[in-house]
Amino acid sequence: MALSWFACANCGFWQRHFAPPDCPVCSDVRNDLPEDGWRFLPEAEVAATHTGDARQIADDLWAFTTSPALGLAGTGWLIVREGGNIAFEAAPYHSDAMLAQIDALGGIAFLAASHVHGYGALFQLQRRFDPAIVAIQKEDLRLTKAFRVTAPYDEQFALAPGYTLHQVGGHYDGQACLHDARGGRLFCGDMFKIDQDATGNSTAISSHKAFHKDIPLTHAELRRYRDTIAPLAFDAVLTPFEYAPEVDRAVALAALDEGLARAPGVKRLPL
Ligand SMILES: [Zn+2]
Ligand SMILES: [Zn+2]
Repeated sequence: MALSWFACANCGFWQRHFAPPDCPVCSDVRNDLPEDGWRFLPEAEVAATHTGDARQIADDLWAFTTSPALGLAGTGWLIVREGGNIAFEAAPYHSDAMLAQIDALGGIAFLAASHVHGYGALFQLQRRFDPAIVAIQKEDLRLTKAFRVTAPYDEQFALAPGYTLHQVGGHYDGQACLHDARGGRLFCGDMFKIDQDATGNSTAISSHKAFHKDIPLTHAELRRYRDTIAPLAFDAVLTPFEYAPEVDRAVALAALDEGLARAPGVKRLPL
């Protein structure tokens, strides 16, 4: 059988394979295994059954989503800027119309993601917008077989002036955040989980090693989050799933301080 791309029907993780034997993301302790066994969707099937949406969040920021929901149902963020657009995280799949819209907004010069739960169909963006720079923290390279990382990095990587990736670890060893100094935003990966109501208002903030199983982070992991983001100025956080203008630097640091002041455990702090 020829090599092709397949999405895990449970979590949406893409693999370039001929017959994936399993899904490394679902097999990991942070996710649940599928109740009824493995099912892998060929790209042609996903393309025939999914569309998507683009939503403008700010002058320089767009959010791309896939419908119906695929896998973890993440959001791909696109920062539109002179000198080359930045895609951080990716939608689970992009229809032709979504790719055409990204093209109309200026394409993509830089591709990065916080960790595997934000990869989505990053492979599609690389295929379409080659030769974009693809930056992934080196500890997570083993999960990037669906695309080609062109810029593995250590603790920090300046993607473009004012846009810096910082390894934060914790949830995943290679987890990184993107600090957008111009927009005053922290694309924080799953450093924070933000609960939101049906209208998109943020109601609670928490941090986890594993969200589904409520496995907490250790104090050293929380402290590393804190040490990394404390020097950064931001008025909003964006996870691979939520845009939270309610969470600025003070709120984020207070949440981490609360966790450091007690025994490890997952606690959802009301916002
Ligand atoms: Zn999976
Ligand atoms: Zn995650």
